[in-house]
Amino acid sequence: MQLYKITIPNIIENQDCELLGEPKFCTKDQNVNSDTIFSIENSSIDLSNCDPITFVKKKLSLVEKLALISKGPFQPKKNELPGNNFPQKYGHRFTEDNYWRKLTGDDRVHRDWLSYSISRNRLFCLYCMFFGDKYAQKSWIEDGFQGWNRLGDIGLHEKSKGKKREEVAINRDVVNTLVEITQFLGKHSLSLRGHRENWSEANKGNFKDLVELISKWSPSLAIHIEKIKNKGRKEVNFLSWERQNQLIDSVASCIKLVINKQLSESRFFSVSIDTTFDVSKKELLTFIIRYVNFEKAIPVINERLLALKESFITTGINLFTMFQEICAENGLN
Ligand SMILES: [Zn+2]
Repeated sequence: MQLYKITIPNIIENQDCELLGEPKFCTKDQNVNSDTIFSIENSSIDLSNCDPITFVKKKLSLVEKLALISKGPFQPKKNELPGNNFPQKYGHRFTEDNYWRKLTGDDRVHRDWLSYSISRNRLFCLYCMFFGDKYAQKSWIEDGFQGWNRLGDIGLHEKSKGKKREEVAINRDVVNTLVEITQFLGKHSLSLRGHRENWSEANKGNFKDLVELISKWSPSLAIHIEKIKNKGRKEVNFLSWERQNQLIDSVASCIKLVINKQLSESRFFSVSIDTTFDVSKKELLTFIIRYVNFEKAIPVINERLLALKESFITTGINLFTMFQEICAENGLN
């Protein structure tokens, strides 16, 4: 079946444009650290020296990029620089505070993209360097930014369309992959959740285990998992059970749309209503619809389970009421 429209309801869609923009609050004395999980043993990359100038115009493998991203930005303190301070320009100077974006009050957000090159005294954007598209500004990926009298431009780059576009693209990619995973599990009648779902568990349930497996080939998903692991609840989480339910609902509504379309074009159909018990001994009403599908050259008979509802009373009048409700919910008249 072709799903022609995927809609991810409310929360996810809103966060589409706010992905990395959602503030990750840190108090002033909190430090950000992360360990890399990507093994780059046979690589020429030296993780102990991540001066961004080393990676300019260098062809890196996906694993190397991910290793560097998960290692975090290169942000030397002023006493690590020659002369024990950042250079000055027209009386203006970069400071360690610029590694953070100020919010209201004492809150601030760590700029996990901002890297300082000691050898060149220039700033680079880690994300644009590794995952930037043709819209990425050259000054942040090749030349390096050096406008110490225009430090506000750091904030501008943060909000720039290129970066925003790149964040939205990563989010879309993550959600698209999750939709595919949800469809796969549904198609094979596999449950999504597991009994214990911590990242340290060997078996985290089908959904999370598949997400982890696919992340080996999906940079966007790998970055997303890394962020959730490192920042926990402070990070937008597309993998929570609420989001899984939204994914199921979205896929279900798409499937129903397709069924409705086929049904409305069909001249012959029948409805079969029956009740059955599930494992917890609840009586469920099944609403099955059979129709002739004329979409292909040779018409085929489709049988679709349209609804499964708990039925407390199974009198004729009650079943009829449920029939009416299901028809109304599915826009069938
Ligand atoms: Zn950037």
